[in-house]
Formats: sequence, C-alpha cells, structure tokens
Amino acid sequence: EWKKIDTENRSKDELYEMEQTFNDMIDHLKENFDKQEVFVSDASHELKTPISIVKSYAQLLERRGKDNPDLWKESIEAIDSEVDRMQRLVEQMLLLAKNKSEVNYEQVELAALTSSVIQTFQGAYDRDIQFSQDGEALTVYGNVDQLKQVIYILIDNAIKYSDSTIHVKVCEKDENILLQVADFGQGISEKDQKRVFDRFYRIDKARSRETGGTGLGLPIAKAIITAHRGNLTVESILGRGTVFTIQLPIS
Ligand code: ADP
Repeated sequence: EWKKIDTENRSKDELYEMEQTFNDMIDHLKENFDKQEVFVSDASHELKTPISIVKSYAQLLERRGKDNPDLWKESIEAIDSEVDRMQRLVEQMLLLAKNKSEVNYEQVELAALTSSVIQTFQGAYDRDIQFSQDGEALTVYGNVDQLKQVIYILIDNAIKYSDSTIHVKVCEKDENILLQVADFGQGISEKDQKRVFDRFYRIDKARSRETGGTGLGLPIAKAIITAHRGNLTVESILGRGTVFTIQLPIS
C-alpha cells in the first residue's frame, strides 16, 4: 500500500534533499533517453546501407538478370552477404538491448573457457594462436555465455586486424584475473583508442565492411565486462600491435 508523503511535517532540509534526489533521477533518465535516441538513429543509419544495396540488386536482377548469368551470380552473392550483415547487426543490437536481470551468474573457470574458445577459432581459421596461463584457480563469478562472447570478440578482432601470431594470456594480479589478447597487427592510434568502444565506431569503415564488421563488437564486450564489475582496456601502438586487457574480480 502507498503512503502519502507528509510534506507538512518535513523540515526544509528534508524537502531540499528530496528535490535533489528527484532532480538527479530526472537527469539520469534524460541521459539514458538521449543515449537510446542516438543508438536508434545510428542503428537505422547502419541498416539503411545493406537495405539499399539489396534493393538495387533486386531491381538490377529484374531488369537485366534473366539472360545474364554473370550479373545473376554477382547479385545473388551480394544480396546474400548483405542479408548476413543485417542479421549480424540485428543480433548484436539485441545483445546490447538485453535485459540484464535475466542473466544467470555462476563460477566460471576463465582459463578453461578461453582455451575452448581458442580451439574453436583454430578449427575455423589457419592462424597461430598461443595460449598461456599463469596460476591455477583462475575463477570468476559470471555468465559463461557472455564471457565467451567477449573472448570471442577480442580474438576475432585480433584475427581481422592483424596477420601475426596472436597471444592470449590468463593470469592473476592483485585480487583480479587478467585476460589479455595481444596481436602484432595494424594497431590503433591514441585518438582512436578513445573511440573504439563507441557504438558503431570503425576506424576504417570500408575495410571493416569487407571483414563484415559492425562496430558493435567492442561496445558489447565493454558492456558485458562492466556488468561483471570488471574493466576492459586497450593499449596499442599504431603499426605495431594491440593489447586488449580484461580485468575481472577474482571469485
Ligand atoms: P568491428 O565489427 O568493426 O570489428 P569492433 O567494435 O569490434 O567492431 O571494433 C571497432 C573498431 O576497432 C574496428 O572497426 C577496428 O577499426 C578497431 N579494432 C578493433 N580491434 C582491433 C585490433 N585488434 N587491432 C586494430 N584495430 C582494431
């Protein structure tokens, strides 16, 4: 049952405090609302490109596709890859919007999880991924699927943006567990390091399109790690390589 707030018997200080709390709440709501608005407008912008590519190929096929096998093949391939892209975008946007309270937490052995993700990559790509582990019980309290997703995003990026050997390390440091993914690839300038965690941000849009990038991988990874009370940071030297570090409280 709701109780009516008895404002008459409150002191000025109390009322002032209530007003402050209320204003903070409004600010907070407004900030979230603005963020949502930016997200929706960025998302529709990102979806417009694949939609218009699919549309123009469909029109091209209708006009000249019938007796033009080369054009037929090119169009079908382009439509297929753009639809894949839209699918990825929609899946990733849903991940970002997901209600956090539905997530189930448990003890997760981070080194074992990392090594299993690496195995999946090694099955699919011909790349050298070195794994090392320092310490025994490298356990964190978290959601397996989400943590797997983060490891996946970081290794996938290292593969996309370097041609070198990739080093993945899990170790313990000051009550925390660190997971590092290092590559000797193109690196990220200091200016871009500040922006790579922004939604839809890609340093080289054209190249990222070729590799199927959406600019949502790192924001998703950051959101997941923050929800786990951890930190995701980047260190990089342009032209030399990049290290992404996840820091999570030890369980
Ligand atoms: P994308 O889907 O484009 O990979 P991300 O959010 O995962 O989106 O990454 C954002 C951008 O950060 C990428 O487009 C790329 O320019 C840059 N980036 C991410 N990881 C690396 C890396 N290991 N080396 C160099 N650049 C990277």
